Amino acid sequence: MLFISTRGGEKVSGAQAIVKGLSENGGLYVPEKFPKISDAEMSEMLEMNYPERAAKVLLKYLTEYDAAELLAACEKAYAKFEGDPAPLVRLDDGVYMLELWHGPTCAFKDMALTVLPYLLRKGCDLCGIKEEILVLVATSGDTGKAALEGFKDADGIKVMVFYPSDGVSKMQKLQMSTQEGGNVNVVAVKGNFDDCQTAVKEIFSNSEYAEELKKANILLSSANSINFGRLAPQIAYYFSAYLDLVSSEQIAMGEEIDFTVPTGNFGNILAAYYAKQMGLPVRRLHCASNQNKILCDFLATGVYDMHREFYKTTSPSMDILVSSNLERLLFEISGRNAKLTAKRMEELKTSGKYEITAEELKAINETFDGGFADEEGCVEAMYDVFVDTGYTMDTHTGCAMKVAVDWFEKHKKDETNMVIVSTANPYKFPQDVLYAVTGNDVKDSFKGIKRLHAATAMAVPKCLKELRDKPVRFTAVADRKKLFDEVLKFIK
Ligand SMILES: *Cc1c(COP(=O)(O)O)cnc(C)c1O
Repeated sequence: MLFISTRGGEKVSGAQAIVKGLSENGGLYVPEKFPKISDAEMSEMLEMNYPERAAKVLLKYLTEYDAAELLAACEKAYAKFEGDPAPLVRLDDGVYMLELWHGPTCAFKDMALTVLPYLLRKGCDLCGIKEEILVLVATSGDTGKAALEGFKDADGIKVMVFYPSDGVSKMQKLQMSTQEGGNVNVVAVKGNFDDCQTAVKEIFSNSEYAEELKKANILLSSANSINFGRLAPQIAYYFSAYLDLVSSEQIAMGEEIDFTVPTGNFGNILAAYYAKQMGLPVRRLHCASNQNKILCDFLATGVYDMHREFYKTTSPSMDILVSSNLERLLFEISGRNAKLTAKRMEELKTSGKYEITAEELKAINETFDGGFADEEGCVEAMYDVFVDTGYTMDTHTGCAMKVAVDWFEKHKKDETNMVIVSTANPYKFPQDVLYAVTGNDVKDSFKGIKRLHAATAMAVPKCLKELRDKPVRFTAVADRKKLFDEVLKFIK
């Protein structure tokens, strides 16, 4: 399987796509065509455990990787999870939560970032790369920690994380600033996530920087969801959720289902779309935004317009206005027109806006629709579910819940099964979740954890409890124009 860039140019192997992260012209790598999973393969996968299903999906794309080795890597990665890596919890008739937060850092980013170090290391070997790899990560909170944990002490790889200084939750910040490992670095950036992401992308495309890194024998790579190595492992859990519904006799094989996905950078939901392209019986994908509802507006109007206020919300991992992975969908929907995709991305960069055609919007709406939750809507949805069922969810999942409930309200006769993707452990945002389910407001995160435990009796993950006593290692705050100085400091 070869990969092409959404903005045109050379074809590369899967290993190259993962090692490079982003193509030289700024485009994102996509498979030359979508591999299919046949009915017979689906039946075989019914009997498989999660790592086997994941390896099966990955191999469809990463054809030059060794099958047995890939399986061993998936087994090792998902052994870091508590129990089933992607359990489905039944909430109500035809409504299920897909919990993707049982990994080492308590957010869904672990689903891919526990596997990515292997994909990258092996990718370097397959490409004959001898340089040291520097993984640069811009994070809205959860990717950073998951990348640090995934790459900690990895051979020949350094990892550096940039997060918006005031744009992440206290727990997220503590998780990153106390990170262990000899090959890691964390820097707070003055600005929001979009500033961080833009600054990191600039480091990748600056030819002077490239020269300097080359002299230091260092090659840059990315662990953001623009990297295909992030996307591919995420496709697997959509298959796994479907197969779990079949094997528990909730649906018949072949029956279509819906997913509602809380969305920021459009990576998670794009993986669902890729699963559909591979043959998974998905009917609709409901894209859930928080108050930063640029995607919701785009899916309604076909206009992507950044001229709007940026809100800091209680679901910080979705406080994003530049949803990078949307480029991959635009590429597909334009009939894989690289020139047009490049033009639109250029327009976005220069004027902060682009528009797709009415036909393209119609094609997108055949699968996607968008909704959003403001802060109050999110709290209401979390509270209602907690009171009605005793189920506790985090704030990001709360936004998705609100969007799913709105859909049910509008389509009372719809009998299609709905899977709501749950992206973080509620204890990652203890004060906000506590407020939603009890109305109590506490200032301190650890007090929040204690009270949330008292209110819900949910087990507190050890990795969050321990944070209180861990020494803070990283305190640097940098200007977004000076991130490369931080990189140089780190590698020298
Ligand atoms: C990253 C993240 C999201 C958004 O996922 P995207 O792939 O960026 O759309 C939603 N919820 C949580 C908890 C996250 O960490």
